[in-house]
Amino acid sequence: MVNVDEKLEPILQEVLRRNAGELEFHQAVREVLESLGRVIAKHPRYLENALIERICEPERQIIFRVPWVDDEGRVQINRGFRVQFNSALGPYKGGIRFHPSVNVGIIKFLGFEQTFKNALTGLPIGGGKGGSDFNPRGRSDGEIMRFCQSFMIELHRHIGEYIDVPAGDIGVGGREIGYMFGQYKRLTNRYEAGVLTGKALFYGGSRARTEATGYGNTYFVQSMLATKGESFDGKKVVVSGSGNVAIYTVEKVQSFGGKVIAISDSSGYVVDENGIDLKLLKEVKEVRRARIADYLKLKGEGKGAYFVKADNGTIWDVPCDVAMPSATQNELTGADAKTLVANGVMAVGEGANMPSTPEAIRIFQEAGVLFAPGKAANAGGVATSALEMQQNASRDSWTFEQTEARLATIMRNIHDTCAGTADEYGAPGDYVLGANIAGFVKVAQAMDALGII
Ligand code: NAP
Repeated sequence: MVNVDEKLEPILQEVLRRNAGELEFHQAVREVLESLGRVIAKHPRYLENALIERICEPERQIIFRVPWVDDEGRVQINRGFRVQFNSALGPYKGGIRFHPSVNVGIIKFLGFEQTFKNALTGLPIGGGKGGSDFNPRGRSDGEIMRFCQSFMIELHRHIGEYIDVPAGDIGVGGREIGYMFGQYKRLTNRYEAGVLTGKALFYGGSRARTEATGYGNTYFVQSMLATKGESFDGKKVVVSGSGNVAIYTVEKVQSFGGKVIAISDSSGYVVDENGIDLKLLKEVKEVRRARIADYLKLKGEGKGAYFVKADNGTIWDVPCDVAMPSATQNELTGADAKTLVANGVMAVGEGANMPSTPEAIRIFQEAGVLFAPGKAANAGGVATSALEMQQNASRDSWTFEQTEARLATIMRNIHDTCAGTADEYGAPGDYVLGANIAGFVKVAQAMDALGII
């Protein structure tokens, strides 16, 4: 494990004490503080006025009850969260996650990471995150709608286009954003398009937002590969998950000539030696909202594809040149990293937030694998959300090509900023250090300028 600088260690200890039991939040803070020793050695003023302590403390945390009625007429209770982490650079911005694992520590880790990610985009957005322990799996459309409406009854008091702008995340896509926007509009009597992003095109959404996170990660990895004179062309790629991020990663990798050979969900993974059939994947996941094993059922047995249950192995057992974890936090362990390295992986791009454990990251870096941390590599989603806010503010609607071109430029800039910062701080090729320092400095400078807030 990398050590935290002795001047920063007491700050970390206070975060651990004050947020007892919030393991993912501890992990996210530790990773950033590990990178900051070199910054405070160069710029000791960042230790003044408890600046780092303030960055580690959310500005506001809201926890609320979400009662709703299921299809059998039973009253269900879930817990809702919104953590407004940092607004030094702009209104809070970050997704909403519906998953049974959600708790305040997970939302805080996501909000903390989001603050630096948003800073890296160069766009005027602060960091926040929200969600609920509601499990959408197996719920009817009516149940999803009633849940989203109840969630918004409380959330609407805390958001607004100049206050806090939520979007989607795990379990929250276009359908849920639609239900939440409808309820917000009804409660406030305002058509405030910029209050939520990830909207459908016909009521203020942006072209390329659905694709943006997966496409963005692919652009980032393309830039990393280019530093070694490599490209996606002909590479075997494994993408975990099969949700929004994963599907559009597959799409972009294929367009760059890569061959995606495996995808997954929480029930297991599918290997398709001929390359994943994107049309089929979309049919299974976007249209039928089915399980990944159904990919095989629809494709038919004996056509070069097979399914492995989650209990019988991990997708990281599949040999590949490029790994793009796009499901959830800590899905790629130290043991998985060892397998990937032994199988010759050359690059890893994190589409999900914090999918690699600290041990896995260390193993990749020590083996000289190009490693792109999520807070840089998956920033394309939020960047395009900020472009959606721009279009809403100017009542404009850009073409797909225009929007994707902006996304591509933003991702290349983030890549170059991370690489350049790593060079500047004496750690060439260390994208983790580069992303943490570059994101931190942007937030820190703004906080410094705004006084003790
Ligand atoms: P999504 O559409 O809900 O898809 C999530 C996928 O991950 C599903 O295939 C899901 O499988 C799988 N998954 C979730 N929990 C899992 C677990 N514990 N083990 C194995 N698989 C699991 O969500 P998403 O928007 O693609 O988000 C994926 C990741 O990207 C998250 O870390 C999210 O924070 C991050 N991210 C998303 C965006 C965005 O724009 N959407 C932007 C930046 C970062 P099941 O259906 O079986 O649960």
